Amino acid sequence: MKAKTPYQKRIVELNKTVRSLPNEVIVWAKEYALHHPAVRRKNNVTVCAMCGNAMVYSGSERNVKCMEYGRHVRIIESETWKAIKGNIKGWFSTLNVIDGIQLQRTFEIRCRYYLDGRDHQYYIRELSRHWLSPQGELAITALPRMMGQFLDCFPLVGKIELRGTSQMVYDYIADNSELYPDIQLISSLSELTYNDIRGTGSQTFIRDAIALTNGKQ
Ligand SMILES: [Zn+2]
Repeated sequence: MKAKTPYQKRIVELNKTVRSLPNEVIVWAKEYALHHPAVRRKNNVTVCAMCGNAMVYSGSERNVKCMEYGRHVRIIESETWKAIKGNIKGWFSTLNVIDGIQLQRTFEIRCRYYLDGRDHQYYIRELSRHWLSPQGELAITALPRMMGQFLDCFPLVGKIELRGTSQMVYDYIADNSELYPDIQLISSLSELTYNDIRGTGSQTFIRDAIALTNGKQ
């Protein structure tokens, strides 16, 4: 999509200045942006993919704590595990301020887990950026979406560029992503905390919060 409004033109320029993810965010995402699996065999022997600890578990609750390190893991039956070939996917996002604009960047993280002691393989790619001005103007730069029935159907090769369509999809992914705790907010949102934003539909919540502040003025 071609930039038409002055705001869109400004965002197209700012979009070029965005840096790659700091390493500490990547380290955090590998731990907290994925539901780590514990794979259960038919005899209920369940192996934690993160530490290799084996436990006997026959319960129906899927979200449990690994006894070894207290990490939250999700029970996956071995049949399912084979079907997904050990691949798990998650979304995470960061909140930053660039040039007075509130920016939410949303990423996909994929992990191929191994139960035999090999290192897990992680892949991270950025999907979308929501740019929100203190006046409430919104522009989205993102990967293009492919036609398809799946919600997050993005081509392997693509550029983060200004998008005029699919806002609902980009909003959905941002709202359902795990938010990196070290957040930066523009001054009109400075009273909000990480806990306010987290889990409330971060993008739509932030837009509502800005609209509210502007209404008060
Ligand atoms: Zn474990």
